[in-house]
This record gives sequence, structure tokens and C-alpha cells, in this order.
Amino acid sequence: MAAGNAEAGDSARDTYVEKRSSKGRKDLSYPEPPEPLAVPVYDNHCHLDIVDGDDPLTLAEQLDRAATVGIAGVVQASGDIESSRWAADAADRDPRVLAAVAIHPNDAPAYAERGELDDAIAEIASLAGRERVRAIGETGLDFFRTGEEGRPAQYRSFEAHIALAKEHGIAMQIHDRDAHREVLDTLVREGAPERTVFHCFSGDEAMALEAAEQGYWLSFAGNITFKNAQNLRDAIAVTPRERILVETDAPFLTPVPYRGRPNAPYLVPLTMRFIAAELGCDLDELCDQVARNTREVYGDFA
Ligand SMILES: [Zn+2]
Ligand SMILES: [Zn+2]
Repeated sequence: MAAGNAEAGDSARDTYVEKRSSKGRKDLSYPEPPEPLAVPVYDNHCHLDIVDGDDPLTLAEQLDRAATVGIAGVVQASGDIESSRWAADAADRDPRVLAAVAIHPNDAPAYAERGELDDAIAEIASLAGRERVRAIGETGLDFFRTGEEGRPAQYRSFEAHIALAKEHGIAMQIHDRDAHREVLDTLVREGAPERTVFHCFSGDEAMALEAAEQGYWLSFAGNITFKNAQNLRDAIAVTPRERILVETDAPFLTPVPYRGRPNAPYLVPLTMRFIAAELGCDLDELCDQVARNTREVYGDFA
């Protein structure tokens, strides 16, 4: 059933739980849809619960528009209890959505400070049992936005989330910002889930090789098109094709030439074309590979 047909009383779930800041951004309109992909792929990490832009699209509109350009489905990622419930409900209502549920590493310290982290993780555990929740995410470490004082809570939360993914036999989406070494070491120490994804991979060539060696998947977002992101282009060049995933992290990280405007799953073709050109490979073959990789990690959508 499409989200737009949700039963009465559930309509708030079609809208949003958070709003993206428009500070410093001039054009808040959605970009033109790109040329469709011939071979469909999936956006394996987005936040369609976060409202953005002058004329925000509903969940159903997002998915419909994505379908017209060859984006067959999305994995809706989460960062707190409310967004995790939103993701799990959206996945139950629309066959084009699968859910990832978690407490974000930047939210974990606040939960811990209120004495609510254990209860929050218990709630994530109960959501993780639902059939269309196919990943724990996003979890990990973020030393950019969280200072020294928040790190014990981040580690505690990350370790608990790793255990949950293994217990439920589902994938895990890692958020790693300025914490590459610590994330890699934690995974080895705790034992990584069988299907571990670095969402919005932000390392370099050496880290890509190390991650691939461990059997992790690397998910590349629209920022691979940014001028200053040579490290990402170097990284994807050495990543085995069967380890590559693509995402938007929408509404953030809109690919060139639309930086600053709202991002959405229907813009994935821009990133896929950029990657195919960068790797000098056939676009259709790359799409087919990425789609297969996505289903290997999260299972079938419908
Ligand atoms: Zn993230
Ligand atoms: Zn995200």
C-alpha cells in the first residue's frame, strides 16, 4: 500500500519529524529530475522524514518521483526513537521502503545524560524485530560534532547497536565522522555484523582497502561529486565493485551542480553517472552491480 493511502489517524506519519535549516542557502527549490537510469538502483540511506525546501515532497511523492528516474526503492535511516518508529512504519506501508533504526552517535550522549540510553536501545531492539527493518543505523562514532565528554556514551551506544545487528541477523549502517581508526578498531574488537555498511564513506584509499578487506560495504553519497572530495574518488577506484553502494543521505549532500538545494532519492542518477564516468565503466553494468549489492545487504524490497 502506498503511503498516501495510510489509514486515518496515521496521516502525520506521511509528513515529517524534523526540519532542515535553510540558513545560508539561496535556492531552496528541488532540482530538475535527471535523465532516468535504464537499470534501476536503490538509495540505501536517506532521511525522508526531514522536511526541506520551498515545497517539500511527501513520502509518496518522493518515491513516485524516484521511480520515474529508475530508483526502485530506498532504505530510510534513523537517528532517534521518533525517526526510528517513522522509518519502521513507512517501510510497513510502502513496498519501496526498507527501514534502518538506531540512536545516532550524536544523539546518544543526550539520551545518556537524561538516563534514557538503555531504554532507548531497548526500544530500538524491539523495532529491529519487525520484518521490514533490515538494518541498525545509523550508529557509529562522530568526533566532529561530539566532544570528548560525549564519547563514552557514543562507544556504549555503538557497541550495543553492533550487538543488536548481530542478534537480529540484519545489516548495520555506520556513521563515521572524524573517527575512522576508532570505528574500524571497534568493529574488530566487538566483531562486526556480517553485513556492515559505511554510510557516506568519508575515508581515503587506504581506508577503503582496509574496509573492503574486512568485508564491509562502502556507500558513496553525492559528496563524491564535490571538487574537494578527491579522497572519495581515490577510495572508490580501489573498492571492489561488489562492495559499492550508493546513497543520497537526503536531504543533505546534494550532488553537483545542485549543492545547497534539497536532495532527494530521484537525484541518485547524477551520482551514479558521475561514478561510472570516474571508474570508466558501463553505467548499466554498474547499476546492475550496485542493485545486486543492495539486495545482498538488505534483502528484497517486495
Ligand atoms: Zn550519517
Ligand atoms: Zn544519514
